[in-house]
Parts: sequence; structure tokens; C-alpha cells
Amino acid sequence: MGHRVSGVSRPTGGRTLKPLPEARREVLAAVPALPPVSVQLLEASGLVLAEPVLAPHDVPPFKNSAMDGYAVRADDVREAPVVLAVVEDLPAGYVATSSVGPGAAIRIMTGAPIPEGADAVVRVEDTEPRHGKVWVGSSVLAGTNIRAAGGDVVAGTRVFEAGERLGAAHLGVLASLGVANPIVRRRPRVAILSTGDEVMSPDVVVLQPGQIRDTNRMVLNSLLLDLGAEVLDLGIVRDDADLLAATLNRAAIEADAILTSGGVSMGEYDLVKAVLRDLGRISFWQVAMQPGKPFAFGLLNGTPFFGLPGNPVSVMVAYEQFARPALLHMMGATNLFRPRIRGRMLQPVDTNPDKVVFLRVRAGVDDTGEWAAELSGGQLSNMLSAMAYGNAFAVIPVGTGAVEAGDEVDLEMFTWPETRTKGEVLDG
Ligand code: AMP
Ligand code: MG
Repeated sequence: MGHRVSGVSRPTGGRTLKPLPEARREVLAAVPALPPVSVQLLEASGLVLAEPVLAPHDVPPFKNSAMDGYAVRADDVREAPVVLAVVEDLPAGYVATSSVGPGAAIRIMTGAPIPEGADAVVRVEDTEPRHGKVWVGSSVLAGTNIRAAGGDVVAGTRVFEAGERLGAAHLGVLASLGVANPIVRRRPRVAILSTGDEVMSPDVVVLQPGQIRDTNRMVLNSLLLDLGAEVLDLGIVRDDADLLAATLNRAAIEADAILTSGGVSMGEYDLVKAVLRDLGRISFWQVAMQPGKPFAFGLLNGTPFFGLPGNPVSVMVAYEQFARPALLHMMGATNLFRPRIRGRMLQPVDTNPDKVVFLRVRAGVDDTGEWAAELSGGQLSNMLSAMAYGNAFAVIPVGTGAVEAGDEVDLEMFTWPETRTKGEVLDG
């Protein structure tokens, strides 16, 4: 496929770069876990268990029917067809008042408790009603169509460990166990702000020369909502040291973490850097990654602070590599990182061998059933459309340099959306 593309924006220039794993380790070591709280079950969606959950009882809580049909003694229907006396009608939610003696049956609905004496359920399709009796057309083995008590979860077992992030099915299991107020780590409150005199609100209709619209706050807001954080949006802060200091101080008091964009690189107007030098123990790193190289991290009055770069793709890459895992760690999660799969690059790309390069790619399964990826657009750090058109980062390790067409790479999936249309599935 095509000519060689360059993923390199500019040379390193001889400065010492901090290896990405080291930067990540320092960030994760510095962020505290949020305190445990007891919340209502639905409020726990997307949050992480702070304690293991022990099953207080079996699920299902009692032996019950898997089918609509007749509860019988398997011995009685061995010579089917046979006719049995129907002694009771048992809907779900009720307990039989009689037991199933020899030659008898109880009409039973799915989910109703198996009556005393019965050891199998004949499904309704294999029967016919006969004036207060039932004709049973086929034999069943003992245990047929009976769901055991504890068949799903046995009382006393550890259903989920601390560190498990709760999704829909987890909430359902907890509901089935009567765990109505699980102990989870508090939902993080994350302050976000954009910096820069050139940055204007997205709803400004006409931009003056030199102005751009604020992309980063929209991106961060959306990413944080996806993560289950509560967002404290502090807006756009002009390149004014006093204003920035006041806003950051407020953020440190009101939020569990602070994410800013812009102002952390080498420019004269990179005020975040200047202001933070006075405010807290913040480190300014040149991380050996591309994009996302200038990055600031530290504690601002004890509140984790992430000074993300200004360019929107750098913001997303630095968020993915530092802020997201750190926030998940604060939330108490065991698993912090996006899934990676192996796949082939479909085109050659030159990358900077001094850095881990995160190429924006579109990954999918090819005709042979293997994962393959191609660049999803321009690879400069201001070209956000390549993130929107892509679904993964091809992660090119330090020391690689040239990637050839057909080379196998790690694909870190940053989104895993629907890819099959109605037509493909329903007519396929
Ligand atoms: P800086 O590090 O502040 O010099 O920003 C680097 C680049 O990112 C500049 O081209 C900025 O205009 C751009 N930038 C900074 N903040 C934003 C933002 N919120 N939305 C879009 N672009 C931004
Ligand atoms: Mg700026």
C-alpha cells in the first residue's frame, strides 16, 4: 500500500527524555485511592468495589422449574405415554401446598419452586390436558428441567473481588443477592480547564484572526463522563498568572484531580508551568512518547494535577497513558489499561526511534480473520480528526524507527464501537 508515511513531527533535539514506563510508574505511585463509601446500587454503576462481596444466599435461592410444564416423579413417566392426576396449579412466586405423590403431577410455571415429591419437570409441549388430568407423551430423567438452588452463585462464595469495576451484569448479580448498598470507592470529581488567550468557546460563531475554538475541554469532559467521573468544568482560563493561580487553587480544594491543557511546553507564554512552580510540587517532564511529550504532574495541595499538552491529539494520548489509568487507580480498579491486540500495519511508517510512538490507526479484521490497521488520518498532534476516524493506537516501541507494511504491532483499542450495519447483519 502507497508511499511511506512519516509519523515524526520533529527531531528530539538532544534533550533527555523520561521513559514512558518510568513516568507512568511515578504517576501511579503518587495518586491516592479515594475513600470507600456505601452507595445505592444504581449509583455504583461504573464505580469499583472497595471490598469483596460474599454471597449472603444461594442464587437461585431455591430449586425451581426451568420450563412451563408439569412437576412429576420421573419414575411415574418412565413408561410414557401415561396419564397423571393434576393436584395443583403453581405459578411463579408461590409454594405448592400439596406434594407430588405417586401418579400425581403439579402444573408448574418457569421459576416456581419444585414441589415436594417431584424430581423432574415435563415441558408443556410434551403434554395434553385431559379433564383435570394430564397426558404425558414422553419420559424424563430425574433432574430434567430443574434449576438447582445455588446453580448460579453458592451462598458464602466471593462473587466479586475488591477492584472489580461494576457494569450492568455485576449490578444485576448484586441485585439478585440483595446487596442494595455496595461499598465502592467514591466517584472522582475531576476539575478541567483549558488555557490560552487564543482559545475560544466552541459556540463563538466568528473567530477573530489567530483564535481557535476550545477542543480539549470538550474531549476531556466526554472522556471523563465515559469513565464515570463527575466533571467540574472551570472553563477557559486566559494566559494571566493571577487568574490561573486562583483557578488552580480553587480546583485543588474542590476536586479530587485536576486536568489542564496547554501551557506546559517551552514557550514564553506557557504560564501553567510558571504558575505551578510557585504553587506545588509539580514535575515537568519531557516524556519519551509521541505525541504527548510535554507533560506536568504532581500534587497541588495534595490533589493530583495533570498538566496535559495543548495540542488535542497530545491531550488524548496523555490522558490515555497517564490520567485515565491514574483515575481508575484512584477509583480502586485492579485493571487500569485498555486492551491491546496484535495486528499488522498495512502501510510503512517512519517513526522516531527515541520515543514510544502512538500512531492513530483504524484497526479491523481482514479477509483472513487477522487484525490489520492503517493510519486513520494525518499524524500531527493537532490533527484530531485522525482520532475520530480511528479506533486504536498502533504502539511503536522505543528503538523501532521504520515500520514496514506487514509488520506486526500492538494495537491499543481506545474505542471499540459498533462496526456492523443493519444491512450487513440482517441481510448477511
Ligand atoms: P501550548 O502548549 O499552550 O502552546 O499549546 C500548544 C498548541 O495547542 C497550540 O497550537 C494551541 O493553540 C493548541 N491548544 C491549546 N489549547 C487548546 C484547546 N483547548 N483546544 C484546541 N487547541 C488548543
Ligand atoms: Mg498556550
